[in-house]
Amino acid sequence: MSSNSSNISYRFDTQRLRAGYEPKNHNYAVSPPIYQTTSFDFRDVEHAKALFGLRELGNLYTRVGNPTTAVLEQRIAALDGAAGAIALASGMAAISYTLLNIAEGGGRILTSPYLYGGSADSFKKVYPKFGIKFDIAKNIENPKKLHEEITPDTKAIYVESISNPSGVLLDIDAIAEVAHEHGIPLVVDNTVATPYLYNPIAHGADIVVYSATKGLTGHGNVIAGLVLESGKFNWQTEKFPQFSEKYYTLRDINDNWRSFPEVFPQTPFTGRIRFNYLNYFGAALSPFDAYLVLIGLETLSERIAKQVKNATALAQYLKNHKAVEWVRYPGLEDSPYHELAQRDFKNGTGGILSFGFKGTTEQRESFLNSVKLFHYHVNIGDARSLIVNSPQTTHGELEPEEKLLADIPENLIRISAGLEDIEDLIADLEQAFNKALSE
Ligand SMILES: *Cc1c(COP(=O)(O)O)cnc(C)c1O
Repeated sequence: MSSNSSNISYRFDTQRLRAGYEPKNHNYAVSPPIYQTTSFDFRDVEHAKALFGLRELGNLYTRVGNPTTAVLEQRIAALDGAAGAIALASGMAAISYTLLNIAEGGGRILTSPYLYGGSADSFKKVYPKFGIKFDIAKNIENPKKLHEEITPDTKAIYVESISNPSGVLLDIDAIAEVAHEHGIPLVVDNTVATPYLYNPIAHGADIVVYSATKGLTGHGNVIAGLVLESGKFNWQTEKFPQFSEKYYTLRDINDNWRSFPEVFPQTPFTGRIRFNYLNYFGAALSPFDAYLVLIGLETLSERIAKQVKNATALAQYLKNHKAVEWVRYPGLEDSPYHELAQRDFKNGTGGILSFGFKGTTEQRESFLNSVKLFHYHVNIGDARSLIVNSPQTTHGELEPEEKLLADIPENLIRISAGLEDIEDLIADLEQAFNKALSE
């Protein structure tokens, strides 16, 4: 469960294959073994005492940690330059444990208006019942004025590095500065970007969350989430009294009670998630699913690079199509985010693009019913190309004025570019347009 990678000096493409794993510690197995076990025997009574007092970190019970899952945690930490990481059973578990760990007992979170539908809806409906309230920032794209929206009760700023479905890019460096001036952390959902395209921590983020279900794993075969921490944020202030709480369960050998930062000086945030939230709320990732994420990570760079290439080609094709009102892809030269893309996204701006269908609602629906190669469903980041009418599905929870604020017009169609031959993808869209427009 330690978070330091022994391969820390290797570059990105080597780390995604090697970080966090030493074959010699696992019977020289080349591929990380799946430790499909609930529990781990104690060597003796002293060992049990040391593990339970967290004086020694080791494997105990798979709900709180597992050797296969630990490889994934260390690998993603290495890829993102994080001090530590924790794997969880879904992206939503990563988001909820993060926000509860920051604002338990009550507080406010300042968010971007451009959020994943499940995040936006749960922020509105579920968290307020736990005393956690959300303010949707008016100035997220104008960080100089963002400080006006921070109240004494604001506990964090929460944004997405590349938003879905609209592809909004934000100046994370400037937003992080505002957060830090107020002694609060910046949390970045980096799901769409993946560490191949963007490292939020290098741009000042304190906490990074992922739905590993998407591009990180990339094969549409697992639900998984991750939380990473920079290790640089000071949690021991009056805004976060929970981090100064001392627990009997964290006592040292002389029976002195200790706090999470005392036990985990480098990784107090993920340490606290592991032993309070994962341990007691229980959204554990199974070792087999951790293994699937690891296999996905092995080809992360090649997959995302090809998705960027296909997304760019699809955006160009759609821009010139008569049935298309507009195209949103931050990689396009006429995108309002082109400058930020050039500055911060050297490897491209991902596989998600969207366009406005020019035609009647019936024609738009007929277009979706006519695609043959594109999969029509809600996921993103798959090796296969996907298409969906976001305003009516993934973002269908948003009320009309919320859709307006999030800038999601009713005629928006989202594409998640996969790895197929681009000619086949374009031909599929072309035949679907022809069919829809002939009706
Ligand atoms: C899918 C998604 C989530 C939720 O992740 P799950 O793994 O489905 O729970 C969170 N944030 C973003 C940006 C997503 O795309």
